[in-house]
Amino acid sequence: MMEEQVIIIGAGPCGLAAAIELQDAGIDALIIEKRNIVHSISQYPTYMHFFSTPEVLEIGGIPFTTAGDKPSRLEALNYYRTVARRRQVRVHAYEAVHALDKLPEGGWIVRSTDRSNTEKTYRAQSIVIATGYFDHPNKLGIPGEELDKVSHFFREAHPYTGMKVAIIGGSNSAIDAALELERAGAEVTVVYRGDAYSPSIKPWVRPLFESLVAKGRIAMRFRSRVIEIGPLHLVVESEGRTETLENDFVLALTGFHPDRGFLASVGVTMEEEGYPTFNDATMETNVPGIFLAGVVASRREANEIFIETGRFHGRKIAACLLAAKP
Ligand code: FAD
Ligand code: NAP
Repeated sequence: MMEEQVIIIGAGPCGLAAAIELQDAGIDALIIEKRNIVHSISQYPTYMHFFSTPEVLEIGGIPFTTAGDKPSRLEALNYYRTVARRRQVRVHAYEAVHALDKLPEGGWIVRSTDRSNTEKTYRAQSIVIATGYFDHPNKLGIPGEELDKVSHFFREAHPYTGMKVAIIGGSNSAIDAALELERAGAEVTVVYRGDAYSPSIKPWVRPLFESLVAKGRIAMRFRSRVIEIGPLHLVVESEGRTETLENDFVLALTGFHPDRGFLASVGVTMEEEGYPTFNDATMETNVPGIFLAGVVASRREANEIFIETGRFHGRKIAACLLAAKP
């Protein structure tokens, strides 16, 4: 069995930042990542630009400079992999952690499966869970959601050219996708449950979207919900009235939530409103030796933690582990 002082689960920006903070504190943590580093970012829309400026996405004190004012997805991928390599962060890629067992004498057994489907076990004193939320889109729970034409992720517009596409949701993913789809010649209808534009829409994007709605190039339906999806149609309910629309594809861009099941399985309790119990000053959960980093620690609102804020969690964890050293 492999022995480690600290194992970090997940090599997103916040898991990487935690590994570097621990390295600076003299702890050479191992990251176990089920795909490869910053996997979530690699799955974001291909042509996306971050809303953050590069300096607030920096980790490990390594400068992030970009050609424009906001980094592209490609620039972010390049930055994070360069930082991971420069700082020689140890990552076991394509290995998924599926269980943590508490040892009676203290510490944890970490159980994982690597890409050849081989079971692996490690013994670690402390665990940092940094598993993000991108694997868990918010589901609608409506008939037809499981059809192939429905996706909770948007990559790029080309496959939708000339198609009737309904977008469910009214925040940044929905608005960005609608703009890109309209440019690619899709017939776009945005179905949003709110009665006005969401305040979270990037302020520099909203005027572009509103102008396309005003010109009739994107159909915007407020106070509306899709209640059923069929192979060539969907049913929208708006203020008590239902309407059937022709439809080829549905993009349900309804946000994400962290995997609370994994946290619960290791004994992390959930507060009444569904967020995990942890100490804000140290990021340690109610289970001694288990820490949270990044968006997995989010409370009521999953988007309250993002790279800009979650990148500092590792510093608190490192300080806590240093203080505990004899
Ligand atoms: P993640 O980046 O999701 O990383 C978690 C990692 O854990 C993943 O690599 C995953 O594969 C791995 N993992 C999960 N389960 C396991 C397991 N069981 N075993 C091993 N590995 C596992 N934030 C900003 O600050 N600025 C922005 O401009 C911005 N733009 C965004 C644009 C989009 C389209 C989206 C969706 C989000 C954006 N965010 C932005 C939010 C930001 O990307 C997330 O908050 C950030 O990725 C969180 O980092 P993380 O390290 O906590 O999680
Ligand atoms: P989000 O901000 O969580 O928004 C989800 C949207 O779906 C909201 O409009 C929400 O409605 C709606 N929704 C949620 N559950 C629903 C349900 N069951 N039925 C109907 N509608 C539902 O998700 P997101 O837009 O994917 O953004 C996720 C994160 O990525 C955010 O931090 C965002 O800022 C970021 N992001 C950044 C960029 C960029 O920088 N370019 C692009 C995309 C996303 P309500 O508004 O009523 O809650």
